[in-house]
Amino acid sequence: METNANHDNCPFCNLDDRILKQNDYAQVFLSDPHKVAGHLLVTPKRHVEKPWELTNLELTAIFDLIFWIEQKLIGKLGDGFDIRQNYRPFVNQNRLKVNHTHFHVIPRSEGDYIYEISEQYEKDLFVELDDMERDAVADMLKD
Ligand SMILES: [Zn+2]
Repeated sequence: METNANHDNCPFCNLDDRILKQNDYAQVFLSDPHKVAGHLLVTPKRHVEKPWELTNLELTAIFDLIFWIEQKLIGKLGDGFDIRQNYRPFVNQNRLKVNHTHFHVIPRSEGDYIYEISEQYEKDLFVELDDMERDAVADMLKD
């Protein structure tokens, strides 16, 4: 189950003094580079690349830290948060993309920098769901 093949060259397995808070199975540190002040990352301590390979203990530990961050920073660095986990095995690891599963916690506020720079231009991405697409996806998810 556990693979540490990429442990040595994984930046998130070698955080050293970057860790701001941790529990038994997960840890918190500042994203560097980051999108906004207070952009934090929460990772399992174990090197896990596929998010569905996280154990229930790791998931609970990760979300305990995510919700801890939200309560600490609400009203200070943002009025809300985006929680994001990207799984993109089609992109090679680089400075902006690390394979070790991680969750972004990004403080957000109305009309903030992320909205100004990108989200205001993404409104056209939203289209009404049609019946064929709904049925096709629902079929794929059937057991
Ligand atoms: Zn790692």
